[in-house]
Amino acid sequence: MEIPSICRYCGGVIKLVPAVSIYGAASAKRLGLEREHIYQCQNCNARVGCHKGTTRPLGDVANEVLRLKRMETHQVFDSFWRNHNMSRTAAYRWLAKRMELPESKAHIGGFEMDQCQRVIDLCRQEQMKEVA
Ligand SMILES: [Zn+2]
Repeated sequence: MEIPSICRYCGGVIKLVPAVSIYGAASAKRLGLEREHIYQCQNCNARVGCHKGTTRPLGDVANEVLRLKRMETHQVFDSFWRNHNMSRTAAYRWLAKRMELPESKAHIGGFEMDQCQRVIDLCRQEQMKEVA
């Protein structure tokens, strides 16, 4: 993934900042982001996280709408694999395969609107199959 430098929404300057400066110390700790970094548009606050322990972005920056969608997708996906007694690793391998992406790119934190929706649909389809 390329390092974002110019915001795709507003053309503002994107900077790499410590997650703590966005979430505050307490929330960053709760989210396990104490040592993580985030790319943030200095103008409109669009942002994207990094691969754990690195400054490699997960995808392109997200505005509020896309951030909420990424969060919703995470909730659906996480409860999906937990309910299936899958390991986190196995779950992401499954996701990569279904999304036809290399595992290195299968990160919801970097997905676009349509990819988020596809994850949600995949999880729902899988759950329906089991009920049927
Ligand atoms: Zn911006």
